[in-house]
Amino acid sequence: MKAHAVDKQEPFAGVLACADSRIPVELVFDQTIGHIFVTRVAGNVVSPEIIASLEYGVAVLGVKVLLVVGHSGCGAVRAAMKPDTVPGQISVVYQHLLPAMGQSGDNPDKAIKANARFQAELLRTSSKVIRDAAKAGKLKVEAGVYDLATGIVSLS
Ligand SMILES: [Zn+2]
Repeated sequence: MKAHAVDKQEPFAGVLACADSRIPVELVFDQTIGHIFVTRVAGNVVSPEIIASLEYGVAVLGVKVLLVVGHSGCGAVRAAMKPDTVPGQISVVYQHLLPAMGQSGDNPDKAIKANARFQAELLRTSSKVIRDAAKAGKLKVEAGVYDLATGIVSLS
């Protein structure tokens, strides 16, 4: 499998996941080298660099699905709900999580789900490449949540 992936990559899916060490994306989806184009950042939030990376996945590599996957117990979401003073630039992530907070009261589980949905919607709407591919029926953009306890990803 590794040998086949030396000269090129042909992933079928692009993923935006949290940087949390408990979500090893390929293992979670039972995949090996070369099959998933993975972007990761704390709180699985969309930024210009994430969009650029996923646009490459769609426009150049031809991935058929983009999945934003949040996870239970997400520390980034919890921290954004109760912002404390944190070192360095950690709090930069919070602003991207605020839209989901507004829809969720004080419930972190709802916020995690809402955030995955919100970030997927952001991908659909803010990227012309992604929007056009979706409109043409070549791409699906989905949101889901990975449950750390069960290992199951539920689409939302
Ligand atoms: Zn997380």
